[in-house]
Amino acid sequence: MPFLIRNLVFDFRTTETAIFVQLLTRLALSKEEVVSWKIVRKGLDARKKKSIRYVYTIEISVRNESACIEKFAHDSDIMHVPEKVLKTFPVISTDKEIVIAGMGPAGLFAALRLAEYGLQATIIERGRPVEQRVQDVQSFWDRGTLNPESNVQFGEGGAGTFSDGKLTTRIRDENLSYILDSFVRFGAPREILHLAKPHIGTDKLRRVVAAIRTELLERGFTIRFSGKLTDLLTTRGQVSGLVLNGAEELPCEYLVLATGHSARDTYEMLQRRSIRMERKPFAIGLRVEHPQDLINSIQYGDKSAAGLPTAEYVLTHHDPETDRPVYSFCMCPGGVVMAAASEVGGVVTNGMSSFQRNSPFANSALVVAVGERDFPGSHPFAGIDFQRALEQKAYAAGNFSYYAPAQNLMDFTSGKGFHAVSSTYRPGIVPVDLAEILPRDVALALKAGVKQFDRQMRGFLTVEASLTGVETRTSSPVRIVRGDDYQSVSLPGLFPTGEGAGYAGGIMSAAVDGIRVADRIAKELRAT
Ligand SMILES: Cc1cc2nc3c(=O)[nH]c(=O)nc-3n(C[C@H](O)[C@H](O)[C@H](O)COP(=O)(O)OP(=O)(O)OC[C@H]3O[C@@H](n4cnc5c(N)ncnc54)[C@H](O)[C@@H]3O)c2cc1C
Repeated sequence: MPFLIRNLVFDFRTTETAIFVQLLTRLALSKEEVVSWKIVRKGLDARKKKSIRYVYTIEISVRNESACIEKFAHDSDIMHVPEKVLKTFPVISTDKEIVIAGMGPAGLFAALRLAEYGLQATIIERGRPVEQRVQDVQSFWDRGTLNPESNVQFGEGGAGTFSDGKLTTRIRDENLSYILDSFVRFGAPREILHLAKPHIGTDKLRRVVAAIRTELLERGFTIRFSGKLTDLLTTRGQVSGLVLNGAEELPCEYLVLATGHSARDTYEMLQRRSIRMERKPFAIGLRVEHPQDLINSIQYGDKSAAGLPTAEYVLTHHDPETDRPVYSFCMCPGGVVMAAASEVGGVVTNGMSSFQRNSPFANSALVVAVGERDFPGSHPFAGIDFQRALEQKAYAAGNFSYYAPAQNLMDFTSGKGFHAVSSTYRPGIVPVDLAEILPRDVALALKAGVKQFDRQMRGFLTVEASLTGVETRTSSPVRIVRGDDYQSVSLPGLFPTGEGAGYAGGIMSAAVDGIRVADRIAKELRAT
């Protein structure tokens, strides 16, 4: 059985051959004694700019393993590889109908997990297949013509399809490695399996999404694109079906609701059907964009970026004046800022990168936590109303177009000046005073945050950086309340899941939540 060696630290320029040689020295082994070895984790440590290093975990198989393990019995960095228990899935047959609404990570991974049990479902997706969706989104960016059903938020692949495809998450779950393995199986780069901060990039993610679709069709799933869930059907207080596009009835016993955080009309339909929901705090702010070279030099010092990944940052601050957390979010190294609206008459910013992260710019959302203080009252849609009002204000500031209001970072932070402003955001930008668009506390907290970030990353506050806004779709403003059995507390048979249900934030956690729901449905089916 192979064993692991953790905390192996090497200068970032060290080649794999040199790593192997040092590994042999560390274990006092000869080359011939090694059967195989591979890197299972690689994380960058750039805290000390004079000695930027990678920290590795390496898995190795040797001929005389017990002697080797015995020799290092007291070395806490050397251990057996924990045994990977291969999960098996009992085949379930049923005549009960399952429908999944939404083809984002939650819906897709719910479907893939159902397929493991030999189950099939009908998937309905309001948007278009990813190939056509890409054209719709491009047309929005080029000409400002928004398709409210096929855009950055809606369509095959869900909200993260146009993104950096970051696969980091703070949650711990046994399914995380299953999800990464699945991404690789569908065409994602293998490096996501060992990098501490893996990402796929929008270009590769689009191909992965299309490959998942092919697999699901081969496994007998039915996919209905341009198929929007518009109503629920119930019989004796249970889900008995749904209405598609306001016209067609689809019977089902299990409805997986994976519709994401931007399906405002779907939330309204749920409200009409008395499904219990509650409002949820989230965060709003602006998107900042710097030259990538500047971020590289701040993060790596005078080192050439060759051999180092495109630099990233994570910044946090608590502003005592407004008593609010301010933080960077969804950073896209080597990326572009993009128009991410899904509703006519509202401007929304976000960012994306390709796998190579090779644009000359770095962008990130700078956001401030908002909640009860900002949208008082107990109505579940108080947060949505707050989001929408801001998006509409930004639209008005952009001369009633999808041009984003923008400002030089230095001018915004100091509250004065007219430095040049530019952005990769398309279709374009309109220079304004962004503080006039944001709620007062949010603007104050952001200004304080930027000054603090400049202390953490000298050079962050610069006339070379610009801000665009507004960044509002950071996470769901609503939670669809569900019980321990993953079903809506108001309607058995309805399984709200993923980010829109308020139980996930990001690609990985949404996928995990979709899997949990699928496992729960499988459990119910086995019990009947
Ligand atoms: C621009 C952008 C960049 C992002 N970058 C990252 C990142 O790099 N890493 C990361 O971890 N997270 C990122 N996120 C967040 C991540 O995308 C979401 O957390 C994740 O997609 C949520 O998955 P989900 O399946 O719950 O919902 P979604 O991905 O939102 O999917 C919901 C799906 O449901 C469909 N739908 C909505 N209403 C209906 C209806 N009534 N009937 C049928 N279908 C419907 C939608 O069209 C959509 O396809 C990003 C988000 C955005 C918007």
